[in-house]
Amino acid sequence: NNTYNLVARLINADVDEIALTENASSGWGIAFNGIDFKKGDEIITSEMEYVTNVLGFLNVKKTLGVEIKVIPNDEHGNFSLSELEKTISPKTKLIAITHIAASTGDMMPVIEIGKIAKKHNILYLLDACQSVGHVPLDVKEINCDMLAVTGRKYLRAPRGTGFLYIRKA
Ligand SMILES: *Cc1c(COP(=O)(O)O)cnc(C)c1O
Repeated sequence: NNTYNLVARLINADVDEIALTENASSGWGIAFNGIDFKKGDEIITSEMEYVTNVLGFLNVKKTLGVEIKVIPNDEHGNFSLSELEKTISPKTKLIAITHIAASTGDMMPVIEIGKIAKKHNILYLLDACQSVGHVPLDVKEINCDMLAVTGRKYLRAPRGTGFLYIRKA
C-alpha cells in the first residue's frame, strides 16, 4: 500500500490510477494493447520513440492495418508541435511519446503535446522511463491518459519493477 501511495504522490496521480508492473515494457504493453484499434486508425509518434514501443506499433500495423505517422524533427533537431498539429486527422487514435529519449536525452514538450491531444480528443500514452525520478513530472499538468515507468533507472529500484498510470476517466 505504501508503494502505491508513494508512486501516486510522485506523479500527482490518485492511488487507484496506479498499477505496479513487472517492468515498463509490460506496463506500456498493457495500456497499448488495451486500445481498441481498428483498420485505418493512426498512431502518431516521434523520431525518438523507444524501440520496444515501435515494435508494438509495427505489430498492430501488421495485424490490424493501423497506420504509423512519425513526426520528423525540425531543423534544430527538436520535436515539431506544428508538424504534430498538421499530422492529426480524424483517424488519429493515439499519440505515443517517449518523454526523454533513451538514446539521445532529447526531452519532448510533453505539456504542449498534451494540450494538443486534449484539444483533438486523442488518447495520449507517455513512456516516462528516463524522466520519473530525474525531472519533476505531474500527470495532471501533462494531461496524459496513460504513462509507463520502469523502476530500475532513475527510481533506483531493482529490475523486475515498474508502474503504469491510467487516468481514471
Ligand atoms: C529502459 C526503458 C524502457 C524499458 O524499461 P523496462 O523496465 O526494462 O521494460 C522503456 N522505455 C524507455 C524510454 C527506457 O529508457
